[in-house]
Amino acid sequence: MNFEDFFCTNPDCKDYGKKGKGNIALDRIYGKKKTALLKCKTCNKTFSENRGTPFFGLHTPKGKVLKSLAMLVERGSVRGTGRAMGVSKDTVSRWRDRAAEHAEEVSRELMKDLNLTQVQIDELWSFIQKKRKT
Ligand SMILES: [Zn+2]
Repeated sequence: MNFEDFFCTNPDCKDYGKKGKGNIALDRIYGKKKTALLKCKTCNKTFSENRGTPFFGLHTPKGKVLKSLAMLVERGSVRGTGRAMGVSKDTVSRWRDRAAEHAEEVSRELMKDLNLTQVQIDELWSFIQKKRKT
């Protein structure tokens, strides 16, 4: 597990939302699914690995999720994106909803990993918001 991918989820912490600060460590493993409980060394708060990043717990490579999100605008539909990526439309909907809840983090990843521009990212979010409302 790469702790650099996680950040502290405590809004009161000075390292809140910041990645790669070296403040995240493993506290313990819990539950049937062997979920990691992580600890922030700055504020001493613990949180599940499923928090703090939208991509964990999805059991899908992050790159595939990001690519699907980027494809949503191009294809214009969840169904078309699912077909292109070889996943069901329900899966794409789940990724989309999850991404929408973590818009800031996902935007950063899209810029970094897929080299999307701010304009493309704005387009994506307005597309997603429009679809979610209807
Ligand atoms: Zn913290």
